Amino acid sequence: MTSHIMPTYGRLPVTFARGEGAWLWDENNNRYLDALSGIAVCNLGHAHPAVHKAICEQSGKLLHTSNLYGIAVQERLADKLTEKSGMDNVFFCNSGAEANEASIKLARKYGHELGIDKPAIIVMEKSFHGRTLATLSATGNAKVQQGFAPLLEGFVRVLYNDVDAVQQAIEQDKNIVAVLVEPIQGEGGVNIPAPDYLNRIRALCDQHKLLMMLDEIQTGIGRTGKFLCFQHNNILPDVCSLAKALGNGVPIGACLARGKAAEILTAGSHGSTFGGNPLACSAALATLEALDQENLIELAEQKGNAICKGFTAHLQDNKHVVDIRHKGMMIGIELDYPCADLVKSALERHLLINVTNEKTIRLLPPLIMDEQQINQLVESLSTLIEEYTGQLP
Ligand SMILES: *Cc1c(COP(=O)(O)O)cnc(C)c1O
Repeated sequence: MTSHIMPTYGRLPVTFARGEGAWLWDENNNRYLDALSGIAVCNLGHAHPAVHKAICEQSGKLLHTSNLYGIAVQERLADKLTEKSGMDNVFFCNSGAEANEASIKLARKYGHELGIDKPAIIVMEKSFHGRTLATLSATGNAKVQQGFAPLLEGFVRVLYNDVDAVQQAIEQDKNIVAVLVEPIQGEGGVNIPAPDYLNRIRALCDQHKLLMMLDEIQTGIGRTGKFLCFQHNNILPDVCSLAKALGNGVPIGACLARGKAAEILTAGSHGSTFGGNPLACSAALATLEALDQENLIELAEQKGNAICKGFTAHLQDNKHVVDIRHKGMMIGIELDYPCADLVKSALERHLLINVTNEKTIRLLPPLIMDEQQINQLVESLSTLIEEYTGQLP
């Protein structure tokens, strides 16, 4: 049968019918262990009862009015997000790309208010910021940009995890108004920068009056063992974009701002029909409350450590395993050989994983994964990696 869906995705040959926690069942009722969470979205696992309940209750009351009117649950979510992040205010939207669009527009307007006609933003090699025209222009991946020229101007690209390159770019270009960076690059290969990388970028931004803008779309909402990854560094950015796990599967994005950056986008300068609608906000509120109630953020650190300890014990003598790295439950296992095929062989063993940057196995397990599931993940993926590397030249 031909599909009538535009072929923008290379899909795996499986269709899921339902889920519970870290388990998924396909249409033939086969069970799979989910170590990807729909790419860092279902951090609370599938069919979480608190999110289910919140959506049911809200949909019986009100799905949508408009941002022309007050929205109580949006106010409550903004209160909670600013309290947990240390930021001052929030613009709500529907996806990660839209959250970054808001950051980019905010930075440009900040520049114009300083009298800079052609404001530019420093972005990184191997970054990923989304698929809209502005965010794919910011993205440091030629494949994402291929075929969509002319790209947006106003982005200056430097190497990731290279503070000197950021400093040089600032000194060479008077139009720089902001730095946009992921605390850990997800799509780029689970690239974890030096521990003081964000602190040094913060210092440069302060020194040159630039906005420090973090893309926490993948690293946020407890994934790395803090609510937001920058909280490992005891700093605050000026702008921070969230999406993915914020609604545990209900689409919602957010652009958080602080200090002078919180005053840039004013009435009429930005907007969204669906952004911050009651249904999405109730799901996000329930998600944040469950994270706290179940102590999942702290547990993410412990579970991530346990998972990587397990992989290290199994794979430390495997000469094709270059690196096992993680922060909380954002995990990369880098091989010295392209390994995209592992995704399919894992699926055949009923395990969901991902490979990024050709050679890095990426795991983003739901934060609710239990000890037995963790053991199963470590055992079955280690076996797969041993089998795969065993037949390499
Ligand atoms: C997924 C992702 C995005 C894009 O989010 P969408 O919701 O797909 O638009 C942007 N930045 C990062 C770091 C991401 O992981």
